[in-house]
Amino acid sequence: MSTDLDRAAREMCAAGRRAVELGLSPGTSGNISVRVGETTLTSPTGAALGALDPDCLTVFDAAGAHVGGPRPSKEYPLHRAMYQKAPQARAVVHLHSAHASAASCLPPWSSGSALPPITPSLVMRVGQVPLVPYAAPGSDRLAHNLADLPGAFRAALLANHGQILAASDAATALDSSVELEEAARIYVLVNGREFSVLPPEEVRELTEHYGTAWDL
Ligand SMILES: [Zn+2]
Repeated sequence: MSTDLDRAAREMCAAGRRAVELGLSPGTSGNISVRVGETTLTSPTGAALGALDPDCLTVFDAAGAHVGGPRPSKEYPLHRAMYQKAPQARAVVHLHSAHASAASCLPPWSSGSALPPITPSLVMRVGQVPLVPYAAPGSDRLAHNLADLPGAFRAALLANHGQILAASDAATALDSSVELEEAARIYVLVNGREFSVLPPEEVRELTEHYGTAWDL
């Protein structure tokens, strides 16, 4: 394994351990992938994110063919769709974290985002989070539903399922998924009450400054 690939594999396993420590990966749910050059490494099917072994990851080539390691997670097509949406990304994290999953069961805030611009952190670190229409986990239809969403985004809620997020590396992806989980938690707490969101001009200023996307 190249040095870069080896480092990315270790970073991915560390992100998996952190997801479990933070309570964001119930049971063996969730999966992580990293891309180095033409190669994508993913957590194997049924693997607990807290116990990933950098020498025992599933390997895909640029065409999406399984070329090494254990049997892949059935949710790999979803990762592939996310990389196509966010071509600069080098890591994708998908979690069944409780509050993101709860928010994914609510009607979307707008056509472009399941969550409202409820905190500066969400707008700065994640951006808009479209809701991917429900399809069975691991199905090609779910990957297509994500691919078919219009506009720019680096994170999405999967209806009645969880969250998916792309970033420059595994640690950053996990950090952003924590921000997304927290914003979802706050939204679930205020949902059904009267609450305020950030004014459009503040959202615009934050997205311009931090390079995120939010269609107003
Ligand atoms: Zn899932």
